Amino acid sequence: MMHLTIVCPCFNEQEVLEQSAQQLTAVLDDLVAKEKISPDSGVLFVNDGSRDRTWEIICSLHARDARFRGVNLAHNVGHQYAILAGMMTAKEWSDAVITMDADLQDDTRCIEQMVDAYAEGNDVVYGVKVSRTADPFMKRLTAQMFYKLQKSMGVDAVYNHADFRLLSLRALEALESFKESNLYLRGMIPMIGFNSTTVDDVISERQAGESKYTLGKMLNLAFDGITSFSIKPLLAVITIGIVFVLISIGILVYVIWSLCAHTAVAGWASLMLSVWFVGGVILIAVGIVGVYVGKAYTETKSRPRYIIQDIL
Ligand code: UDP
Ligand code: MG
Repeated sequence: MMHLTIVCPCFNEQEVLEQSAQQLTAVLDDLVAKEKISPDSGVLFVNDGSRDRTWEIICSLHARDARFRGVNLAHNVGHQYAILAGMMTAKEWSDAVITMDADLQDDTRCIEQMVDAYAEGNDVVYGVKVSRTADPFMKRLTAQMFYKLQKSMGVDAVYNHADFRLLSLRALEALESFKESNLYLRGMIPMIGFNSTTVDDVISERQAGESKYTLGKMLNLAFDGITSFSIKPLLAVITIGIVFVLISIGILVYVIWSLCAHTAVAGWASLMLSVWFVGGVILIAVGIVGVYVGKAYTETKSRPRYIIQDIL
């Protein structure tokens, strides 16, 4: 039977932790009773440098029930890194890991569906938000805009999927071979490949406490989500440069025409021409330098060049 670990990142979650732990116990007990997971399956809470009583609560949960375990990070590193720390720790004793926010806004019924999908041979199971009515309007709007922008930039990520997902041991090992330090898991995991499927996730409201994702943290994540996976912004610079040069050619045509028609204003032509032409050339040059910087950036990430699924 498979050993499941549910990894929950926690940043100042003292209000919600007890409640979440209770709910997760019920889920674990149910799955053990149905013989879908081994009885020693558990939850790993990652304390992401909380400044409240979060870690004490995790310790007392562990004392009460050894299925609750904890990782205490030395300082606040952020959601993505906390998840990675939890997954890499749990990998040592688990067959599969589910990452889930500590506030349990995601549908806990999905856990069983993910376990079933794993049993059917999927290495990656994505929780996809089918209804976000519980999310505040602005959050929904900005998230949707972001997913669209990301798609237009050519980033291969699952639409409406946040970081609620199951990964098999094999997928975790593949993920470990990505050495990059700007983490954006939603972009990295599709790169692993392997069999994957989705389950429908109905979002509910936060049961207690407030959102720990400040606007700054969200913008940071969005920025990483695009700049770590796409060089299209660089190519845009080159395109703008080319447009500028084309405009300067247009101005040249106009200048020649006005010279012939004797309507030219002295000094105007040379100024306008050089402004657009030089501007365009500089932009193209910057863009080309950018492409090389982009390549150097890709190299320094030293991502795995292939991931083997099976060997016979
Ligand atoms: N979180 C974290 N480190 C941070 C910010 C958030 O580990 O710096 C955790 C937080 O405890 C929660 C999850 O990330 O378990 C998602 O945060 P939250 O629920 O506040 O975000 P929202 O659901 O509002 O997007
Ligand atoms: Mg939340």
